[in-house]
Amino acid sequence: MQDQVVKKVVVAGGGTAGWMAAAALARQLGPLLDISLVESDEIGTVGVGESTIPTARTFNALLGIDEPAFMRATQATFKLGISFEDWGQVGDRYIHSFGQVGKSNWMGSFHHFWLQARAAGFGGELGDYCFELQAALADRFSVGEGPELNYAYHLDATLYGGFLRQMSEGLGVRRIEGKIGQVEQHPETGFIRALVLENGDRVEGDLFIDCTGFRGLLIEQTLKAGYEDWSHWLPTNSALAVQTRSTGPAVPYTRAIAHQAGWRWKIPLQHRVGNGLVYCDDYMSDDQARETLLGALDGERLIEPRVIRYRTGRRRKTWSKNCIALGLASGFVEPLESTSIHLIMIGVTRLMQLFPFGGVSDAVVARYNQQAVDELEKIRDFIILHYKLTERTDSPFWDRCRTMDIPDSLAQRIALFHESAQAFQAPGELFQVDSWLQVMLGQRLEPVAHHQMGRLMPPEQLRAALADLSGNIARAVGSLPNHQAFLDRYCGVAAA
Ligand code: FAD
Repeated sequence: MQDQVVKKVVVAGGGTAGWMAAAALARQLGPLLDISLVESDEIGTVGVGESTIPTARTFNALLGIDEPAFMRATQATFKLGISFEDWGQVGDRYIHSFGQVGKSNWMGSFHHFWLQARAAGFGGELGDYCFELQAALADRFSVGEGPELNYAYHLDATLYGGFLRQMSEGLGVRRIEGKIGQVEQHPETGFIRALVLENGDRVEGDLFIDCTGFRGLLIEQTLKAGYEDWSHWLPTNSALAVQTRSTGPAVPYTRAIAHQAGWRWKIPLQHRVGNGLVYCDDYMSDDQARETLLGALDGERLIEPRVIRYRTGRRRKTWSKNCIALGLASGFVEPLESTSIHLIMIGVTRLMQLFPFGGVSDAVVARYNQQAVDELEKIRDFIILHYKLTERTDSPFWDRCRTMDIPDSLAQRIALFHESAQAFQAPGELFQVDSWLQVMLGQRLEPVAHHQMGRLMPPEQLRAALADLSGNIARAVGSLPNHQAFLDRYCGVAAA
């Protein structure tokens, strides 16, 4: 039988990425591994990253997490999508929800029926046919009672790290406090042998997971994996983040509000609101950003705003030698569609599936890296789409975004939709047709033609089917409780 060559796993960094990796490995492969995590309280974490997508629920299930306990511990709220405001034109608003729009069949998506109805002069808004979108608009939510919604969470990043830490330590992960000063490599292979802490301690391992954030201490500073810069497509490079006290009930969606040189987020939690301003410093100074953010806050400020710098792009190799980068160490697309925590989850899941028990091989590394690129490039295109489709002409930033060159893969998708209303989800792609649709139509990309399957039924039948669908959704939404009321009950706040 093959010997287990790789047993000692060392996670460098204890932000969201480090603790997610440690918790998942310990929970799923714990008996086969010896896991340690090194982190430095003095350096701290990036402290943002509080909006997730529905795959966060899959990850919680993998870890065997009890949802109400998790929500109480992280002060989480439910999320049904993102409200995009002022993106197409100033004054526009659309919701990209996690729901499916209408009922599709093998020949095509529901929206072709809807476009047919619109051409014939009837049918409501596309969102009338999406349960999650209507529930978000009505500020309603429930889970485990009544019709099922597809949802994710807003959570406090620091509390989430603490929650996962407690869980990981309970599962046997050894936490080591200290600053990594040096990374020791094997002189011939270049493989990492140990992390040398500033106090002189050595932490040896067979496999290293780099979760040291933007600095990429192992993957970049040591192994020089290289970085593919995407800032010509995704030009924001700075964020100012600040927390405020809640001024009212939490809504079940993130707000992403465009401004003249980027956008601003608003993430409602149980105990506070996360606010941030994303901008490109070629078009907006830090002082202007501060003024814009502070001017838009509507609750008492709990901390001083902090500037975070980044460069959009991806590490050329997320797995190099015996080191796998997760989280910000592996690259950063941009926070717009809240995909970063998802990518950590996918990265650690893929690692567990391909775990190199018998030793790291070129074939395994190539497979891991290829899957990572395939998924990431499609997410990148989806995010560029939001910028490219703007019709805003009120600032040099939006002029640049509107007129920029985009990847061919995205240009083809836009042309396909414009010419024929066809949208698709490629194999292995995160975002479904419904997501592409909601954003493309939400940002005014009007198709000039659509599939004619809607004409195979008499107009009266089409009209009745659409009315039935939207009526059923409206009734289902009407039966749901208010989000904050449900949340209080679910987390035991109301009973306390
Ligand atoms: P960090 O939080 O930076 O953690 C790095 C860790 O490494 C820390 O523990 C640090 O102490 C340790 N470390 C570093 N150097 C050393 C050293 N020398 N010795 C010892 N320890 C060291 N993601 C989402 O999914 N949704 C969002 O809404 C979202 N919004 C974002 C908004 C902004 C502005 C940004 C910048 C990111 C956002 N993200 C979001 C991404 C998300 O924040 C990150 O993916 C997530 O927090 C993981 O970060 P990390 O653990 O990789 O890095």
